[in-house]
Amino acid sequence: MIHSTFFIKSYGCQMNIYDSEKIISILENKGLKQDDNLESADLVVFNTCNIRDKAAHKLYSDIGRLNKYNKNKTIAVVGCVAQAENVEMFNKNTSIDIILGPQSYHLLPQMIDDLSINPKQINTEFIINEKFDYLTEQKKIQGISSYVTIQEGCDKFCSFCVVPYTRGPEYSRPMKSLIDEVDSLTKNGAKEIVLLGQNVNAYNFTDNGKKINISDLIEEISKNKKVRRIRYTTSHPINMSDDLIKLHSTNDKLMPFLHLPVQSGSSEVLKKMNRKYDTDFYIKIIEKLKSVNPKIEISSDFIVGYPGETDDDFKKTLDLIEKIKFTQSYSFIYSARPGTKSALEKDQTPLYVKKERLSILQNKLREIQFEFNKSFCGTNTEVLVENQSSNSEYFFGRTSYMQAVYIKSKNINPGDVKNVYISTCNPKNLYANC
Ligand code: SF4
Repeated sequence: MIHSTFFIKSYGCQMNIYDSEKIISILENKGLKQDDNLESADLVVFNTCNIRDKAAHKLYSDIGRLNKYNKNKTIAVVGCVAQAENVEMFNKNTSIDIILGPQSYHLLPQMIDDLSINPKQINTEFIINEKFDYLTEQKKIQGISSYVTIQEGCDKFCSFCVVPYTRGPEYSRPMKSLIDEVDSLTKNGAKEIVLLGQNVNAYNFTDNGKKINISDLIEEISKNKKVRRIRYTTSHPINMSDDLIKLHSTNDKLMPFLHLPVQSGSSEVLKKMNRKYDTDFYIKIIEKLKSVNPKIEISSDFIVGYPGETDDDFKKTLDLIEKIKFTQSYSFIYSARPGTKSALEKDQTPLYVKKERLSILQNKLREIQFEFNKSFCGTNTEVLVENQSSNSEYFFGRTSYMQAVYIKSKNINPGDVKNVYISTCNPKNLYANC
């Protein structure tokens, strides 16, 4: 079959969206054209995520729906579900043609060509450095806010998580190639660099005997005059080193907003999760951050209804939320992922309890987020303008705390960093004039 067009769908986290951009680049370099219409594309790529049960279910229902339109398409399933389910996917759905793990996207063009020799193609090897060597050569146009993967994989083995099995051990990219990538992105208009990694603050690379950590890397990136803002995500509390904490007071390009997932406010649950810290440790990290920079704000992930989570454990999570006042967070009901330790736990919390707790927790997070947003009303705040919204009267930007801001103005352009007057807000957005 001749492939002229492709459609790509991403599931899950920011790392996957970033990977999808790279896959688009790879396929365009092969001469394929991106098609926004799934029905007319010759090749459909599903870039999957295995963190939540829902994402894997959604994949199979999407493939089922696709089969109804047209059976003559090539279907490639790439990413973490492909890695985790491996050859088993061919048995679950016979219309899948290509299965490709997250470390081998650069092999996709060759696999498409090889379909004429073997109609079922699979590669799930961990050849991570080869992947990055190849992807660095790809075209780098993202946007005003651009992502750079500095680290992949995880050695932590939280009991609920599949990442160490699907993305492999921690691997940090060489600093030189990261600096080159940042240079290339800023030449194409990037003003904000978001450093990505499953354990981004575990970044650790040795160059000619010199150990380089994430603080060194941020300092180096800061030297690029076109970079106005730097963020990093997702961090693990045990990798919040003193020098990284201190950098939040000395580097003014580093935004005062940190995504530092705690997952639960109960030390007992954290122990069962194998998170390697307790609540006191987490609170001390936040205190240290606030002591070097009182303006810093924190966001987190929460898992509600972990096996064995009692009412008292859940109350401790609510107490921690009240204490830290997380200004933005992601919260999920616990879902057992096959192959993880927690999936074997007998004491699974009933679904109705999990749903009730999630609703209480999300209401609390929403209240805090709304209060935080309200504190900006009637003040001027600095916004990085990212684009013009579909309603052309408004521009879209973000504050240093990642709040979404809609700005009514005729005098601004994407890429500007402007002080704008916040006139009103809701729990999700701020509205400004300029
Ligand atoms: S730190 Fe835990 S939750 Fe994060 S990727 Fe590693 S195993 Fe998964």
